Amino acid sequence: MNDILLKKVKALISIRVVFITLLLGSFFLLQVGYRSFPYPRATSNLIVALYFLTIIYAFLLDRIKAYFTFAYFQIFMDVAAINVLIYLTGGIESWFSFIMLLTVMSANAVLNRKAGYVIATFSSILYGVMIDLQYYKLLPIKYDPALNEKDFLYNIFVHIAAFYMMAFLSGYLSSRLEKTTRDLEQTDSDLKELSLFNRELIENIPSGIFTTGIDGRILIFNKAAEDITGITREKASNLKITAIFPFINPPIPPLPKGGEGGLERIEGVIGQQTGDGRIINLTISPRVDVTGVKIGFIGIFQDITRLKKMEMDIKHKEKWAAIGELSANIAHEIRNPLASLKGAIEMLREDRAAKEQKERLTEIALKEMDRLNGIITDFLMYSTPRAAEFTALDLNLVLDDTLELLKNTASARKDISITKDFAGPLFVNADRQKMQQVFLNLGMNALEAMPDGGELSVSTKRSSRSFEVVFKDTGIGISQKNLEKIFYPFFTTKDEGTGLGLAIAYRIIEEHKGKINVISNLGEGAAFKVIIPDSSASL
Ligand code: ADP
Repeated sequence: MNDILLKKVKALISIRVVFITLLLGSFFLLQVGYRSFPYPRATSNLIVALYFLTIIYAFLLDRIKAYFTFAYFQIFMDVAAINVLIYLTGGIESWFSFIMLLTVMSANAVLNRKAGYVIATFSSILYGVMIDLQYYKLLPIKYDPALNEKDFLYNIFVHIAAFYMMAFLSGYLSSRLEKTTRDLEQTDSDLKELSLFNRELIENIPSGIFTTGIDGRILIFNKAAEDITGITREKASNLKITAIFPFINPPIPPLPKGGEGGLERIEGVIGQQTGDGRIINLTISPRVDVTGVKIGFIGIFQDITRLKKMEMDIKHKEKWAAIGELSANIAHEIRNPLASLKGAIEMLREDRAAKEQKERLTEIALKEMDRLNGIITDFLMYSTPRAAEFTALDLNLVLDDTLELLKNTASARKDISITKDFAGPLFVNADRQKMQQVFLNLGMNALEAMPDGGELSVSTKRSSRSFEVVFKDTGIGISQKNLEKIFYPFFTTKDEGTGLGLAIAYRIIEEHKGKINVISNLGEGAAFKVIIPDSSASL
């Protein structure tokens, strides 16, 4: 604040010097060329005295710290000096009264609005008193005898009015100017802060950031970008983006029409030649200026080498864990029938059993062998299924065959009813045998889920892009805990189950690009929905 005032006081002194110089020059010219003032010598002395006063002011500037009072003092002195000048140059007839307006103006510019009015008042009093004294001839200045009392009064009135008007106008203007300056300074500092914040943000962000010109040459390259690529920004600034990220292909993604979008995610490797390859995940998008013109590209990237390695480790571990679990399940499934087979054979070897018992034991042995064979067949079907043979077929017909088989199975049970509700022909491209396998597995599960009887309803529906087949039963239902496991191989809740039925169904439906969902609650039955995409719809 004080600095600004000091600057203003300096300006005041400098302007005064210029002004006095002009005055002095013009005074000599006037004296020589046109007319002489009543007191030419005293006038020129006054101007010279003012000169010296100004030099003293300049000299005192470094010593005086109270700039405000100092400036006030100078302006008061100016008003007094100008009044003397007016007096010396003819009083009412002097040409120099206008200079007082400049002092009012400078009071406003250097000090404040109040000072403007104070100086206007001081100027009015001094000028008014002097002109009055001249009129009453108390001051020895001659004036044109044609001037009467009214002229004097009018002159004083005009001057006083001009002083106050100048105080008001210049006060208003300088306060506006001050406000605008303050606003500008604020905006300027806000802008500086914002740009500092932006720069800090870009520098400290842990992702690599770069911008390029339209030719792909690097403009901005932040700290993280240096760390990830191992290239300093000085070096990078001479390079094209494709030299740093050779995997950007085509060299630079084409600019989208219309300016929006154009975001492209690319994964690639850098530093392969130097032997420390890093996997980079890079998102690149066009850089557009405020007018919407494309001016380059902006990219943000991360080193995902560790992440990728971790991902691979996890996948590897998961694979082995799955294989381990599967092997344990197979071993468990095989061990049970093997144990009963072994028991039966041991008893047969002892040869103590009666003929009837021998027959029963042989039966058990054969049944367990069949069961073993069944498990292995099912497992092979699951693990190495034969390739599907796709043919156009009507799902309704496949379902009819399945229902026939199910009805035969359930015929011994009077407590089970099977109903169907089919929509018109459902032509799909599918493997007939495999689809039948799916429906049979679902149907058998439904029957097995209703030990105390119930209803199995099979319905089909077609929607715009797919076909749906629903097997709904009123059986024991599935607990929420088991729901997520029922499609796992070997997951079973049945004593005689293998836990492969749904796993096989799932694989087959996956092979047909379809989905299989289940909705169920314990004790409330279950509904399995098979969705097969309509291959003709996607063409
Ligand atoms: P499995 O029939 O040999 O047990 P699945 O893979 O066909 O093997 O079925 C796995 C498990 O899913 C079953 O043991 C059973 O708990 C459950 N499940 C399947 N379908 C149904 C159903 N309709 N109602 C109740 N539970 C079912």
